[in-house]
Amino acid sequence: MPSLLLATTPVTCSHEAPVVPVPGVEQTVLKVNGVPVAVLPMYTGATVTGCPQQPVPCATAAAPLTGISTALRVNGQPALLLTLTGLTNAGTYKAQGPPSSVTSV
Ligand SMILES: [Zn+2]
Repeated sequence: MPSLLLATTPVTCSHEAPVVPVPGVEQTVLKVNGVPVAVLPMYTGATVTGCPQQPVPCATAAAPLTGISTALRVNGQPALLLTLTGLTNAGTYKAQGPPSSVTSV
């Protein structure tokens, strides 16, 4: 089973600019070592900041394509996995963090 994506795990676009989670949709019920597990709404319409691509930088992330847990939900929202990937308006994005030692359930 792939590892869970934590709220602190870096997610970047294909040009290495950070994807900033949607504010206010994170959950605090399920944590690993005190860090909340990321959930689907955090990266659906997330903001990409400082993408260097020209002439069209990444600005917005679309809903994830992979890395959505089919087994684990928190407050009704699917948990995200380290296999997270998706499209931005001008590229792709993916989770960059090292694998956590905790696997999904
Ligand atoms: Zn980009």
